[in-house]
Amino acid sequence: KAKEAGRNQYHFFAQEMQQQVNRRVELEQLLRAALEHQRLTVHYQPIVDTVSGKLYGVEALMRWPTDFGQYISPAEFIPVAEESGLIAPLGEWLLAKACNDIRRLNKALGMNCYLTVNVSSQQYRLGFNATIIKQIMQQSGFHPENLTLEITESILLEDDKAVTAWLQSLRATGVNLAIDDFGTGYSSLSYLKRFPINILKIDRGFIQDIDQNQDAVVLVNAILSMAESLSLKVIAEGVEQQGQLDCLTGLGCQYVQGYFYAKPMAIEVLIDWVEQFAIISDRTSPKLWLD
Ligand code: C2E
Ligand code: MG
Ligand code: MG
Ligand code: MG
Repeated sequence: KAKEAGRNQYHFFAQEMQQQVNRRVELEQLLRAALEHQRLTVHYQPIVDTVSGKLYGVEALMRWPTDFGQYISPAEFIPVAEESGLIAPLGEWLLAKACNDIRRLNKALGMNCYLTVNVSSQQYRLGFNATIIKQIMQQSGFHPENLTLEITESILLEDDKAVTAWLQSLRATGVNLAIDDFGTGYSSLSYLKRFPINILKIDRGFIQDIDQNQDAVVLVNAILSMAESLSLKVIAEGVEQQGQLDCLTGLGCQYVQGYFYAKPMAIEVLIDWVEQFAIISDRTSPKLWLD
Protein backbone atom coordinates (compact mmCIF):
# COMPACT_ATOMS: atom_id res chain seq x y z
CA LYS A 1 0.00 0.00 0.00
CA ALA A 2 2.73 2.43 1.03
CA LYS A 3 4.69 1.54 -2.06
CA GLU A 4 1.67 2.25 -4.19
CA ALA A 5 1.11 5.62 -2.52
CA GLY A 6 4.76 6.47 -3.09
CA ARG A 7 4.44 5.51 -6.71
CA ASN A 8 1.33 7.64 -7.10
CA GLN A 9 3.09 10.55 -5.51
CA TYR A 10 6.06 10.13 -7.80
CA HIS A 11 3.69 9.96 -10.70
CA PHE A 12 2.03 13.18 -9.56
CA PHE A 13 5.32 15.08 -9.28
CA ALA A 14 6.57 13.75 -12.60
CA GLN A 15 3.36 14.90 -14.24
CA GLU A 16 3.58 18.31 -12.63
CA MET A 17 7.20 18.67 -13.71
CA GLN A 18 6.35 17.62 -17.24
CA GLN A 19 3.60 20.25 -17.31
CA GLN A 20 6.06 22.90 -16.21
CA VAL A 21 8.53 21.88 -18.90
CA ASN A 22 5.77 21.95 -21.51
CA ARG A 23 4.72 25.42 -20.40
CA ARG A 24 8.33 26.62 -20.70
CA VAL A 25 8.75 25.17 -24.16
CA GLU A 26 5.44 26.65 -25.23
CA LEU A 27 6.30 30.08 -23.80
CA GLU A 28 9.66 30.02 -25.51
CA GLN A 29 8.07 29.28 -28.89
CA LEU A 30 5.44 31.99 -28.36
CA LEU A 31 8.10 34.49 -27.28
CA ARG A 32 10.24 33.73 -30.32
CA ALA A 33 7.21 34.31 -32.55
CA ALA A 34 6.29 37.50 -30.69
CA LEU A 35 9.80 38.88 -31.22
CA GLU A 36 9.75 37.91 -34.89
CA HIS A 37 6.36 39.49 -35.54
CA GLN A 38 7.14 42.58 -33.47
CA ARG A 39 4.36 41.94 -31.00
CA LEU A 40 6.38 43.04 -27.98
CA THR A 41 6.28 46.55 -26.69
CA VAL A 42 7.82 48.85 -24.08
CA HIS A 43 6.24 50.76 -21.23
CA TYR A 44 7.89 53.64 -19.42
CA GLN A 45 7.68 54.56 -15.74
CA PRO A 46 8.58 58.08 -14.58
CA ILE A 47 11.36 58.75 -12.07
CA VAL A 48 10.86 62.06 -10.25
CA ASP A 49 13.51 64.43 -8.86
CA THR A 50 12.03 65.42 -5.50
CA VAL A 51 14.41 68.36 -5.09
CA SER A 52 13.33 70.19 -8.26
CA GLY A 53 9.89 68.56 -8.26
CA LYS A 54 10.43 67.76 -11.94
CA LEU A 55 10.67 64.63 -14.02
CA TYR A 56 14.16 63.14 -13.94
CA GLY A 57 13.78 60.23 -16.31
CA VAL A 58 11.96 57.01 -17.16
CA GLU A 59 12.64 53.30 -16.79
CA ALA A 60 11.90 51.17 -19.86
CA LEU A 61 10.06 47.92 -19.03
CA MET A 62 9.35 45.18 -21.54
CA ARG A 63 5.71 44.26 -22.18
CA TRP A 64 4.25 41.20 -23.88
CA PRO A 65 0.60 41.77 -24.79
CA THR A 66 -1.68 38.79 -25.41
CA ASP A 67 -4.51 38.73 -27.91
CA PHE A 68 -6.95 39.22 -25.04
CA GLY A 69 -5.78 42.68 -24.03
CA GLN A 70 -3.79 41.38 -21.08
CA TYR A 71 -0.06 41.10 -20.49
CA ILE A 72 2.17 38.17 -19.70
CA SER A 73 4.22 39.27 -16.70
CA PRO A 74 7.96 39.94 -17.14
CA ALA A 75 8.42 37.83 -14.00
CA GLU A 76 7.21 34.92 -16.11
CA PHE A 77 8.75 35.58 -19.53
CA ILE A 78 12.09 37.24 -18.69
CA PRO A 79 13.41 33.99 -17.09
CA VAL A 80 12.30 32.10 -20.22
CA ALA A 81 14.07 34.67 -22.38
CA GLU A 82 17.19 34.31 -20.26
CA GLU A 83 17.28 30.51 -20.32
CA SER A 84 16.64 30.32 -24.05
CA GLY A 85 19.10 33.07 -24.99
CA LEU A 86 16.27 35.12 -26.50
CA ILE A 87 17.12 37.87 -24.01
CA ALA A 88 20.02 38.90 -26.29
CA PRO A 89 17.94 39.94 -29.33
CA LEU A 90 15.09 41.09 -27.04
CA GLY A 91 17.40 43.29 -24.98
CA GLU A 92 18.92 44.90 -28.05
CA TRP A 93 15.52 45.48 -29.59
CA LEU A 94 14.27 47.12 -26.37
CA LEU A 95 17.33 49.35 -26.02
CA ALA A 96 17.02 50.59 -29.62
CA LYS A 97 13.26 51.18 -29.33
CA ALA A 98 13.56 52.97 -25.97
CA CYS A 99 16.38 55.23 -27.22
CA ASN A 100 14.30 56.16 -30.28
CA ASP A 101 11.15 56.76 -28.24
CA ILE A 102 12.79 58.95 -25.60
CA ARG A 103 14.88 60.80 -28.16
CA ARG A 104 11.61 61.72 -29.93
CA LEU A 105 9.96 62.69 -26.64
CA ASN A 106 12.87 64.95 -25.74
CA LYS A 107 12.78 66.57 -29.16
CA ALA A 108 9.02 67.05 -29.19
CA LEU A 109 8.88 68.53 -25.68
CA GLY A 110 12.27 70.27 -25.68
CA MET A 111 13.47 68.50 -22.59
CA ASN A 112 16.21 66.25 -21.33
CA CYS A 113 14.55 63.13 -19.96
CA TYR A 114 16.92 60.36 -18.84
CA LEU A 115 16.38 56.73 -19.77
CA THR A 116 17.18 53.63 -17.75
CA VAL A 117 17.11 50.10 -19.15
CA ASN A 118 17.48 46.70 -17.45
CA VAL A 119 20.36 44.50 -18.57
CA SER A 120 20.26 40.92 -17.31
CA SER A 121 23.42 39.05 -16.33
CA GLN A 122 22.58 36.58 -19.07
CA GLN A 123 23.13 39.38 -21.60
CA TYR A 124 26.65 39.75 -20.24
CA ARG A 125 27.28 36.06 -20.89
CA LEU A 126 25.72 36.31 -24.35
CA GLY A 127 28.02 39.11 -25.49
CA PHE A 128 26.17 42.39 -24.93
CA ASN A 129 28.95 44.97 -25.17
CA ALA A 130 30.16 48.51 -25.86
CA THR A 131 30.09 48.01 -29.64
CA ILE A 132 26.36 47.24 -29.53
CA ILE A 133 25.71 50.28 -27.33
CA LYS A 134 27.67 52.61 -29.62
CA GLN A 135 25.82 51.31 -32.66
CA ILE A 136 22.41 51.87 -31.05
CA MET A 137 23.45 55.34 -29.82
CA GLN A 138 24.56 56.27 -33.30
CA GLN A 139 21.41 54.99 -35.01
CA SER A 140 19.05 56.61 -32.51
CA GLY A 141 20.97 59.81 -31.89
CA PHE A 142 20.49 59.30 -28.15
CA HIS A 143 23.27 60.66 -25.91
CA PRO A 144 24.92 57.90 -23.85
CA GLU A 145 25.24 60.33 -20.91
CA ASN A 146 21.44 60.30 -20.74
CA LEU A 147 21.28 56.51 -20.63
CA THR A 148 21.62 54.27 -17.57
CA LEU A 149 22.00 50.51 -17.68
CA GLU A 150 20.57 48.69 -14.64
CA ILE A 151 22.36 45.54 -13.60
CA THR A 152 21.66 43.32 -10.60
CA GLU A 153 24.02 42.32 -7.83
CA SER A 154 23.99 38.71 -9.07
CA ILE A 155 26.33 39.62 -11.92
CA LEU A 156 28.93 40.81 -9.44
CA LEU A 157 29.22 37.26 -8.12
CA GLU A 158 30.87 36.23 -11.38
CA ASP A 159 34.55 36.33 -12.18
CA ASP A 160 35.72 39.64 -10.81
CA LYS A 161 38.27 40.65 -13.42
CA ALA A 162 36.10 39.87 -16.44
CA VAL A 163 33.04 41.64 -14.99
CA THR A 164 35.11 44.70 -14.02
CA ALA A 165 36.58 44.93 -17.52
CA TRP A 166 33.12 44.55 -19.05
CA LEU A 167 31.57 47.23 -16.83
CA GLN A 168 34.48 49.58 -17.51
CA SER A 169 34.08 49.14 -21.25
CA LEU A 170 30.36 49.89 -21.00
CA ARG A 171 31.07 52.93 -18.84
CA ALA A 172 33.66 54.13 -21.37
CA THR A 173 30.86 54.61 -23.92
CA GLY A 174 29.51 57.34 -21.63
CA VAL A 175 26.51 55.44 -20.21
CA ASN A 176 25.77 55.35 -16.48
CA LEU A 177 25.54 52.13 -14.51
CA ALA A 178 23.01 51.41 -11.77
CA ILE A 179 22.56 48.55 -9.34
CA ASP A 180 18.91 47.48 -9.51
CA ASP A 181 17.04 45.95 -6.55
CA PHE A 182 19.86 47.15 -4.30
CA GLY A 183 19.95 45.41 -0.92
CA THR A 184 18.46 42.10 -2.03
CA GLY A 185 21.69 40.49 -3.25
CA TYR A 186 24.28 38.63 -1.28
CA SER A 187 27.40 40.31 -2.53
CA SER A 188 29.65 42.33 -0.25
CA LEU A 189 29.35 46.10 -0.31
CA SER A 190 33.01 46.47 -1.21
CA TYR A 191 32.08 45.99 -4.86
CA LEU A 192 30.66 49.51 -4.88
CA LYS A 193 34.22 50.80 -4.73
CA ARG A 194 35.64 48.32 -7.19
CA PHE A 195 33.04 48.55 -9.94
CA PRO A 196 32.30 51.74 -11.93
CA ILE A 197 28.75 52.13 -10.60
CA ASN A 198 27.12 55.57 -10.27
CA ILE A 199 23.51 54.90 -9.25
CA LEU A 200 21.77 52.69 -6.66
CA LYS A 201 18.13 51.73 -6.94
CA ILE A 202 16.86 50.75 -3.49
CA ASP A 203 14.60 47.71 -3.73
CA ARG A 204 10.88 48.17 -3.16
CA GLY A 205 11.08 45.78 -0.21
CA PHE A 206 12.85 48.47 1.85
CA ILE A 207 10.42 51.20 0.82
CA GLN A 208 7.17 49.32 1.42
CA ASP A 209 6.95 49.87 5.18
CA ILE A 210 9.38 52.77 5.58
CA ASP A 211 6.68 54.97 7.14
CA GLN A 212 5.84 52.32 9.73
CA ASN A 213 9.01 50.45 10.48
CA GLN A 214 11.99 52.06 12.19
CA ASP A 215 14.30 49.28 10.97
CA ALA A 216 13.51 50.17 7.34
CA VAL A 217 14.29 53.83 8.10
CA VAL A 218 17.64 52.88 9.61
CA LEU A 219 18.54 50.73 6.61
CA VAL A 220 17.55 53.29 3.99
CA ASN A 221 19.35 56.00 5.93
CA ALA A 222 22.51 53.87 5.99
CA ILE A 223 22.26 53.28 2.23
CA LEU A 224 21.80 57.02 1.63
CA SER A 225 24.79 58.09 3.68
CA MET A 226 26.99 55.40 2.17
CA ALA A 227 25.87 56.46 -1.31
CA GLU A 228 26.62 60.07 -0.52
CA SER A 229 30.15 59.33 0.61
CA LEU A 230 30.72 57.33 -2.59
CA SER A 231 29.06 60.07 -4.74
CA LEU A 232 26.33 57.75 -5.97
CA LYS A 233 22.83 58.84 -6.93
CA VAL A 234 20.00 56.96 -5.21
CA ILE A 235 16.58 56.12 -6.65
CA ALA A 236 13.92 54.65 -4.34
CA GLU A 237 11.75 52.07 -6.13
CA GLY A 238 8.11 51.20 -5.45
CA VAL A 239 6.93 54.42 -3.80
CA GLU A 240 3.16 54.06 -3.62
CA GLN A 241 2.01 56.40 -0.86
CA GLN A 242 2.42 59.97 0.32
CA GLY A 243 3.71 58.74 3.69
CA GLN A 244 6.53 56.80 2.04
CA LEU A 245 7.42 59.80 -0.13
CA ASP A 246 7.48 62.18 2.86
CA CYS A 247 9.67 59.78 4.76
CA LEU A 248 12.12 59.46 1.85
CA THR A 249 12.38 63.18 1.16
CA GLY A 250 12.85 63.71 4.89
CA LEU A 251 15.83 61.37 4.77
CA GLY A 252 17.21 63.25 1.76
CA CYS A 253 16.50 60.71 -0.96
CA GLN A 254 16.44 62.77 -4.16
CA TYR A 255 14.95 60.41 -6.75
CA VAL A 256 11.80 58.31 -6.48
CA GLN A 257 9.86 55.96 -8.75
CA GLY A 258 6.56 54.22 -8.11
CA TYR A 259 2.81 54.01 -8.51
CA PHE A 260 2.44 57.14 -6.33
CA TYR A 261 3.48 59.15 -9.39
CA ALA A 262 2.64 56.79 -12.22
CA LYS A 263 2.53 53.20 -13.42
CA PRO A 264 4.58 52.20 -16.46
CA MET A 265 2.80 53.37 -19.64
CA ALA A 266 2.97 53.29 -23.44
CA ILE A 267 4.98 56.05 -25.14
CA GLU A 268 1.91 57.97 -26.42
CA VAL A 269 0.45 58.01 -22.91
CA LEU A 270 3.83 59.00 -21.44
CA ILE A 271 4.11 62.06 -23.70
CA ASP A 272 0.76 63.37 -22.39
CA TRP A 273 1.70 62.50 -18.82
CA VAL A 274 5.03 64.34 -19.08
CA GLU A 275 3.31 67.46 -20.44
CA GLN A 276 0.74 67.44 -17.66
CA PHE A 277 3.37 66.79 -15.01
CA ALA A 278 5.51 69.67 -16.29
CA ILE A 279 2.55 72.05 -15.87
CA ILE A 280 1.81 70.81 -12.35
CA SER A 281 5.44 70.82 -11.22
CA ASP A 282 6.00 74.31 -12.67
CA ARG A 283 3.07 75.54 -10.63
CA THR A 284 4.36 73.96 -7.44
CA SER A 285 8.07 74.39 -8.11
CA PRO A 286 10.03 75.37 -4.99
CA LYS A 287 11.78 77.98 -7.16
CA LEU A 288 8.54 79.91 -7.59
CA TRP A 289 8.50 80.56 -3.86
CA LEU A 290 11.91 82.18 -4.02
CA ASP A 291 11.13 84.50 -6.95
P1 C2E B 1 12.66 46.04 -12.01
O1 C2E B 1 13.71 46.36 -13.00
O2 C2E B 1 13.03 46.17 -10.58
O3 C2E B 1 11.44 47.00 -12.38
C1 C2E B 1 10.55 47.54 -11.44
C2 C2E B 1 9.29 46.73 -11.34
O4 C2E B 1 8.49 47.22 -10.27
C3 C2E B 1 8.41 46.80 -12.60
O5 C2E B 1 7.72 45.57 -12.72
C4 C2E B 1 7.43 47.91 -12.20
O6 C2E B 1 6.23 47.87 -12.93
C5 C2E B 1 7.22 47.60 -10.75
N1 C2E B 1 6.80 48.77 -9.96
C6 C2E B 1 7.12 50.06 -10.16
N2 C2E B 1 6.58 50.86 -9.22
C7 C2E B 1 5.89 50.05 -8.39
C8 C2E B 1 5.09 50.29 -7.22
O7 C2E B 1 4.92 51.41 -6.74
N3 C2E B 1 4.53 49.19 -6.62
C9 C2E B 1 4.71 47.92 -7.13
N4 C2E B 1 4.11 46.92 -6.50
N5 C2E B 1 5.45 47.68 -8.23
C10 C2E B 1 6.04 48.72 -8.86
P2 C2E B 1 7.62 44.78 -14.10
O8 C2E B 1 7.49 45.75 -15.23
O9 C2E B 1 6.60 43.73 -13.92
O10 C2E B 1 9.03 44.11 -14.25
C11 C2E B 1 9.50 43.15 -13.33
C12 C2E B 1 10.95 42.86 -13.53
O11 C2E B 1 11.17 42.22 -14.81
C13 C2E B 1 11.83 44.11 -13.55
O12 C2E B 1 12.10 44.55 -12.24
C14 C2E B 1 13.05 43.60 -14.29
O13 C2E B 1 13.91 42.91 -13.41
C15 C2E B 1 12.43 42.62 -15.29
N6 C2E B 1 12.31 43.30 -16.58
C16 C2E B 1 11.31 44.07 -17.08
N7 C2E B 1 11.61 44.52 -18.32
C17 C2E B 1 12.86 44.06 -18.59
C18 C2E B 1 13.75 44.19 -19.72
O14 C2E B 1 13.47 44.87 -20.71
N8 C2E B 1 14.95 43.51 -19.64
C19 C2E B 1 15.30 42.76 -18.55
N9 C2E B 1 16.51 42.13 -18.56
N10 C2E B 1 14.50 42.64 -17.49
C20 C2E B 1 13.29 43.27 -17.50
MG1 MG C 1 14.93 47.95 -13.14
MG1 MG D 1 15.73 44.75 -12.84
MG1 MG E 1 14.16 46.93 -9.28
